[in-house]
Amino acid sequence: MAQVAISSVAKAFGTVKVLHEVSVDIADGQFVVLVGPSGCGKSTLLRMVAGLETVSGGTISIGERVVNNLPPAKRDIAMVFQNYALYPHKTVEQNMAFALKLRGTDPAIVAERVKRAADILDLAPYLKRYPRQLSGGQRQRVAMGRAIVRNPQVFLFDEPLSNLDAKLRVQMRTEIKELHQRLKTTTIYVTHDQIEAMTMADKIVVMRDGRIEQVGAPLELFDRPANLFVAGFIGSPS
Ligand code: ADP
Ligand code: MG
Repeated sequence: MAQVAISSVAKAFGTVKVLHEVSVDIADGQFVVLVGPSGCGKSTLLRMVAGLETVSGGTISIGERVVNNLPPAKRDIAMVFQNYALYPHKTVEQNMAFALKLRGTDPAIVAERVKRAADILDLAPYLKRYPRQLSGGQRQRVAMGRAIVRNPQVFLFDEPLSNLDAKLRVQMRTEIKELHQRLKTTTIYVTHDQIEAMTMADKIVVMRDGRIEQVGAPLELFDRPANLFVAGFIGSPS
């Protein structure tokens, strides 16, 4: 069974349909990238998996559970956004610990999880610093640290690199992939950047106008695009 199963999921805002019965299965440990032009519905789909948007039709399961009616905090997911939304008046350590403390996690466990995340992300020397004292890449890592400390079943990324300069973007791609190889956490990663999709994904889902055009491994899409849209989108330089 898929770790995340998106089955015939639809979304309308008022009378405007933005997703038309999309289905995607994501296996345990898989790194799946949702890619497509701006406005095609990637963030909406991810936000429904996170529980930040209601589902207009269909079902979303995480593990064995249908989560359609569960609030975000009960879904065993952690999301990393484009604007990292770090707390400016909290240190790196406090930023990473905050969500766990809110949930009443034992302080010894919080300390241990923060230390482990800091080691994994090379943030140990920066734990007492504030976000403004960090580089863009370091802030991005703190945002990932906040997700890691929660030990979620699923990581959700929404264009986490789009605010970074080109060089850092390439470096962070590698870091996120290394993190995935190390933790093997099931991941859904949204981007409009086809290079990011091609270099990071185990499986790519190409979307357009609220529909899925094709699903496949990067090379499959490159070698055997289902249609001209996929060929043009995957084949064009970013
Ligand atoms: P993407 O992430 O692929 O750029 P989105 O999921 O953000 O696309 O948006 C898909 C469509 O849904 C767009 O047409 C967008 O304007 C619309 N949309 C997104 N959120 C809302 C909302 N809260 N209310 C109304 N329309 C929305
Ligand atoms: Mg988006």
